Amino acid sequence: MTEKLELSEEEWRERLSPEQYHILREAGTERAFTGKYEQNKAEGMYSCAGCGAPLFSSDTKYNSGSGWPSYYQPVEADAVQEHSDASHGMVRTEVRCAKCEGHLGHVFPDGPQPTGLRYCINSASLDFKPEGE
Ligand code: FE
Repeated sequence: MTEKLELSEEEWRERLSPEQYHILREAGTERAFTGKYEQNKAEGMYSCAGCGAPLFSSDTKYNSGSGWPSYYQPVEADAVQEHSDASHGMVRTEVRCAKCEGHLGHVFPDGPQPTGLRYCINSASLDFKPEGE
């Protein structure tokens, strides 16, 4: 079981930038090809921008061409939670941080092997630390 981080809406607003708040707490989406990590090829760990939980390793990042950072699996199976999302006239699978339940993005079944999954994640939901830091 992941230990939860629960904060009030006011505490989240203090902790996060307006863009991070919109995406993590209101399930927003950054515009394609605008996020700071879409083209990041450095080795390291992508953690949750809301709570700091490690979410995705650079080892599983690949260039999907979608305009958002894409990974074929989370760093641990229980680092993220998946929920059915029927908003915007589509049925998609939403991905949230298991610790703070912040919205990260969606997962699609068109990724590369070995999982065949594409975790399509907003840069604003992530905080990258290069290896060795
Ligand atoms: Fe989190």
